Amino acid sequence: MSDDETLDENPTTFADLGLSGSVLRALSAVGYERPSAIQEATIPTLLGGRDVVGLAQTGTGKTAAFALPILERLDKGQKSPQALVLAPTRELALQVCEAFEQYAGHSKAVHILPVYGGQGYGVQLSALRRGVHVVVGTPGRIMDHLDRGTLDLSELKYLVLDEADEMLKMGFAEDVETILAATPEDKQVAMFSATMPAQIRRLSAKYLRDPQEIAVRKTTTTASNVAQRYLIASYPQKVDALTRILEVENFDAMIVFTRTKNETETLAERLRARGYAAAAINGDVQQAQRERTVKQLKDGKLDILVATDVAARGLDVERITHVVNYDLPIDTESYVHRIGRTGRAGRSGDAISFVTPRERRTLSSIERATKQSLTQMHLPSVDEVNATRLSRFDDAITAALGQTSRIDRFRDIIDHYVTHHDVPEADVAAALAVVAQGETPLLLDPADEPVREEFRGPKGQSRDRDSRDRRGSSGPMRTYRIAVGKRHKVEPRQIVGAIANEGGLSRGDFGQIKILPGFSLVDLPAEIPADALKRLERTRISGVLIELRPDEGRAPRSGGPRSSGPRYGGGRDGGRSDRGSRDRDGGASYDRGPRKPRKPRTPRD
Ligand code: AMP
Repeated sequence: MSDDETLDENPTTFADLGLSGSVLRALSAVGYERPSAIQEATIPTLLGGRDVVGLAQTGTGKTAAFALPILERLDKGQKSPQALVLAPTRELALQVCEAFEQYAGHSKAVHILPVYGGQGYGVQLSALRRGVHVVVGTPGRIMDHLDRGTLDLSELKYLVLDEADEMLKMGFAEDVETILAATPEDKQVAMFSATMPAQIRRLSAKYLRDPQEIAVRKTTTTASNVAQRYLIASYPQKVDALTRILEVENFDAMIVFTRTKNETETLAERLRARGYAAAAINGDVQQAQRERTVKQLKDGKLDILVATDVAARGLDVERITHVVNYDLPIDTESYVHRIGRTGRAGRSGDAISFVTPRERRTLSSIERATKQSLTQMHLPSVDEVNATRLSRFDDAITAALGQTSRIDRFRDIIDHYVTHHDVPEADVAAALAVVAQGETPLLLDPADEPVREEFRGPKGQSRDRDSRDRRGSSGPMRTYRIAVGKRHKVEPRQIVGAIANEGGLSRGDFGQIKILPGFSLVDLPAEIPADALKRLERTRISGVLIELRPDEGRAPRSGGPRSSGPRYGGGRDGGRSDRGSRDRDGGASYDRGPRKPRKPRTPRD
């Protein structure tokens, strides 16, 4: 193997960055092979004690970039919180907690507490009393705890602002500033943001001390002979999506990239179980074994290689017609390197990237950096899969007919059967097909069609906003009324911030917001749990009780005049009736997968 492109022969390791002991052990268990670009730049700086402003978005590995240095320096003996992570939404707060747990090796000795609106105070209070090392929360609820005196931040050492621009957009600017000002002077601050608006710069200048600004470098090399497509698939849908792609794509050999070493093994095993000639290579596989595997791929004894970035460095196999990014890479350099594994020796190639709904932005940044746009593809339908199966079935008959001497031997036997049993020849052929096929059905059942998720395109925020107006992310919507309006100088972001935080909702749960003189109308999920509704009735924006309640189209008790607002019907179905995904084990009704390179097929009806 020769290394010909963007990745170094000796990539930086997590140990090189200054991490040690249990943190390294946990990372090895998670299966990360090397630090991502943002991690490489941020971890040593944070370990060195300096503040950081990181320009990074989801998908770059920024969570580990701040979590690992905190865990490395954690004082398990300190009972009061030593690290606080502020995140804009409950979802993100929970994700960050999960990441911390993972990087702490799920150790019972490390206490991580999520604190967000929508969860009862009781759990949070008792955990805080017992002692917590890291608190991850939304600004509003953290403020509540500070106001009540239930969160002691006097010994805080590390403060992280995650997705700072989102927090400001959601109206948390004041809360964030109050928290920053209320924590010890000598704490270390790390702020991460996907964008750097003036407000973020101001915040950084005011509250961070000589921060190191870190932005991940982008490359622009790209291969024009590789057709690049993407498929939106949530994590549980990926195996099924891959299986269908394997059925309908006309590939010779394929390399499938996953993010972790563990996943290469699991996926290769699942593909083998479905009858594919697949093997895994990753950084843990001995060099000699890796070379043997690559040779098997070259010789056509293997068709699918499931690999990590490190293991596939410099891989040069002409047979590879397809690259599948089962997981998107953590940086653009890796993307460029991965798709460079196909389209070798002047041939054309295909690259298909699986993008989870959360990763749409990552996809846009790959498109920007490579100056190429990816074409969206859809999950191959049951009809498409069945068309390829039927034509493969035809091909098998044609191939068998070519084996004349064997055919001749069987012809007499069949003739004998037809004459003695008086059965049409087509029936006998069909009966033999049943024998050959065994118990597995030849065709997929149309009932196996998963409900297709109507995902939004990857192209940025304007579309995001459109769809936010039309649909919620968690079900049917209805219109609610709150008792604050123009008269109270309320802004949409304050409404979103307050309701999201106290109602335990996410941004995707919000539809249209209409601010009228004396009150406002907000589209939210039709089903909000009773306790959340109670809290929302009592929530205040700029000191005014919002008294959230379903809108009945009548004049509000304490709002503006009836004529000031249009009658607003509740209960629009902007919800997920068209969404949903069945986490199906794609193997259940599949017949044998192909093991051999295939010829192009013509779908038939
Ligand atoms: P984040 O940007 O923190 O949301 O991380 C995006 C994804 O990348 C998560 O699924 C992480 O588990 C994964 N990840 C983070 N760091 C690495 C790494 N060094 N190698 C492989 N995967 C990583």
